[in-house]
Amino acid sequence: MCYTIPGKITKINGKKAIVEYFGEEREILNEFSDIKEGDFVYAQGGYLINKVPEEEALESLKFWKENFKTLKELDKNLAVTGFAKPSDKLIPILKKIQNKKEVSKKELLALLETKDKQDQEIILKTANQIRQQIHSNASCVHGIIEFSNYCRNNCYYCGIRKDAPVERYRLSPDEIIEIGKKAAHKYNFKALVLQSGEDLWYTEEKLSYIIQELRKENLLLFVSLGIRPKETYQKLFAAGARGVLMRFETANQKIFDSMRPQTDFETRIQLIKDLQKIGYIVATGFLVGLPNETNEDIVDNILLTKELQPEMFSFGPLIPSQDTPLKDEPPVKKETMLKIIALTRFAEPDANILVTTALETLDEDAKKEGLMAGANSLMINVTPDAIRNKYHIYDNRAQNDKDIQKNIDQTIKLMQSLGRAPSDIGLK
Ligand code: SF4
Repeated sequence: MCYTIPGKITKINGKKAIVEYFGEEREILNEFSDIKEGDFVYAQGGYLINKVPEEEALESLKFWKENFKTLKELDKNLAVTGFAKPSDKLIPILKKIQNKKEVSKKELLALLETKDKQDQEIILKTANQIRQQIHSNASCVHGIIEFSNYCRNNCYYCGIRKDAPVERYRLSPDEIIEIGKKAAHKYNFKALVLQSGEDLWYTEEKLSYIIQELRKENLLLFVSLGIRPKETYQKLFAAGARGVLMRFETANQKIFDSMRPQTDFETRIQLIKDLQKIGYIVATGFLVGLPNETNEDIVDNILLTKELQPEMFSFGPLIPSQDTPLKDEPPVKKETMLKIIALTRFAEPDANILVTTALETLDEDAKKEGLMAGANSLMINVTPDAIRNKYHIYDNRAQNDKDIQKNIDQTIKLMQSLGRAPSDIGLK
């Protein structure tokens, strides 16, 4: 099983190319000089990863051909069935959404505050329908390696904050490369996130070495390292990293300052913008449920993410960790998170929206429900079992006790039951 379907290049225009999957076209970025029309390629996150020999591509496409059609039909059917009648309050907003008109902050707030069960269900179903109309059944699956739980910061909500009494670990560059190679060859990942706390033990040189070695394995590499100088990110881009995961956490600066001592909101936002200018695919977003957060703050978070125009939206609930000052905070309700996914889909219809591990942690159906509320991306943790529990950013984290292969099998089964296929989601 492979987490992306090979596609065929049908058009090349400078650095952009069109790749076709059984009649569906997606735009991608191509950095290779030897790619021509008619070649088969793997693409992920809108990036061409590598050329695939024709024989290998045709063999894989033989498997996918019938499956792809069946999955597509299933996804389409699931996205149109079972709509009840919305309340009068909801009708004009839904009309705007269906007519692809921009929804206002006031309207998003009204949707977020909807208490009516039937209306809530319609909101989620409408978001899923829009996802299906825009992305069809394409959904991407990325792997993530958490390579160090050291962090120089002390964010109040984080279980691996500097003062948290957790057992620390750091993987050596060669250990990270080994795990990455295994993710690429044993588990067939095409896109991998390398994540750590803000751990300066990993110098530019060490990180560049890891990235250069893993890029040779035909992987689209994301880094999630926190604040580093722009120049460091430029060097990592030159080494082959193409994506960055960096949330701004909250658009409310007062909350930001109270939760993230010695870090700065403006610096973070500016870095996100700089990373986009360097050429990175950026995944960003926020945390839901921080103390003193209002519904208006949540809508502002969605709108700031939209304004930043990332390639991927990533947001999760605060899950209180015993080792943090927020250990007694009330947990965020799953229903709120699902509504936020749906609202994000309304605010930015062509967004790629990730179901985060934190959402999965809320309950065992949350991953499926997130995908059915407008999300179209998933992350699988490929950090070795022996150390995964030590990346303790919050309590009872989903995937912590799962065998990697078992987790992959369950995820693929879930995607297939919903009619999702791992073809590239393309550029926005
Ligand atoms: S949230 Fe990130 S920066 Fe803050 S303490 Fe945790 S790992 Fe460090």
